[in-house]
This record gives sequence, structure tokens and C-alpha cells, in this order.
Amino acid sequence: MNIILLGAPGAGKGTQASRIEQKYSLVHISTGDIFRANIKGGTPIGKVAKSYIDAGKLVPDEVTCEIVKDRLASPDIKGGYMLDGFPRNLFQAAELDKFAKVDLCLNLEVDTSLLMDRICGRRVCSCGESYHVSTLNGATTCAKCGKELYQRADDNPETVGARLETYEKQTAPLIDYYAKQGKLKTVVCGNKTPDEVFAAVCEILD
Ligand code: AMP
Repeated sequence: MNIILLGAPGAGKGTQASRIEQKYSLVHISTGDIFRANIKGGTPIGKVAKSYIDAGKLVPDEVTCEIVKDRLASPDIKGGYMLDGFPRNLFQAAELDKFAKVDLCLNLEVDTSLLMDRICGRRVCSCGESYHVSTLNGATTCAKCGKELYQRADDNPETVGARLETYEKQTAPLIDYYAKQGKLKTVVCGNKTPDEVFAAVCEILD
């Protein structure tokens, strides 16, 4: 099974992706993680991506599509994969349809007024876990693996504002795109905890 995780920044895609990966053994492919690894490694892709990411804009399609196409060409994805953060606009979705088969688009629907606080208070771990400062009680390490937590460079109010705008203008139209293909399933997250959202996700995937 090949799935796409769709949702605004801060909707909980990463959190759900970790759980889905464990339970369903789907390979988790996050374009954001790939860009961050490239920035950390100082690669040419990282150098291109950084200015866009810092501005809350999308990295150019040619760069992004090529990365995903390469990644999907590797043999480890034969058992199924989950794309997190790709596609992010209609062009990328049409390109993806040319080189891959999508079975399902799982849309995490959230109240966008909650997202600014959620993202700016987010602390993440390199193992994939993420937390909100309000529930950490001063802890600075990951409860799952013990590593030091950090704040993503783009999780600041200015960049988050731009990312939310980019989502509305460029990514939200994908909801219709996949609905028209009969592949869309939406989970209304409302006040649900991550466990409750995951239970709803499992109902769909099972
Ligand atoms: P994310 O970790 O998914 O929130 O992505 C962080 C940033 O990486 C985004 O704000 C974009 O600047 C960039 N990015 C991630 N995925 C894509 C994509 N599919 N197309 C263009 N830019 C992307």
C-alpha cells in the first residue's frame, strides 16, 4: 500500500507517520526531513532548499520531484511507503502520478487557528518524536529515546505564518485532486489526542 499523508503544517503528520510506520511497516518518506538532512550536511540541495524553507516557501518543484523520484526508485519501498509532505501542490501531484501509484490520500483535517501555537511550541527529536512545551514540564530530552530535543529553525511565528499561507494557497487544493480520484480519506482531528487520531487512521487503513 502506498499512501500520502496530507495536512497543514502542525496537523500531526509526523506523529501519525511514526505510528503508521511501526504498525504497518510502510517506509516513511518525508521531504522536509530529506531537506533538513541536506542542509545539515551542507550539500548543494541543502544550499538551494535553505532559503525557501527559511522563508516558508516551497522548494522548487524540479528539485523536490527529482528527490522523490530517486527515493521511490530504491528497492526498499517495494512493500509500500508513506509520503509525508509530498506532494505539496498540483504540479507535484501530477508528476507523482507519472512515476508512482498512489492508493490512498489520508487527509488530517485540523482547525487552522490552533496551528500557530502548536508549531511554535513544538520541540522535536531526531528519532521522529515531537512534543509541545506545554506538556514537557521542563524536560529537554525525548521520553522515547533520551536524546536532546530541539526546535526546528522554521518553527518561528514569521515562517509559520508564511507556511500556513503556502499550505492554503498551494497544498489545500490537493484535497479536491485526490477526492476526484476517489482516493481521499479525511480524519477530522478536532480535539482528539494523537492516540485517538491514530485509532481513526487505523480504522481506515485496516
Ligand atoms: P515539513 O517538514 O514537511 O514541514 O517541510 C519543511 C519545509 O520543507 C517546507 O516548509 C518547505 O519549505 C520544504 N518542503 C517540504 N516538502 C516540500 C515539497 N513537497 N515541495 C516543496 N517544498 C517542500
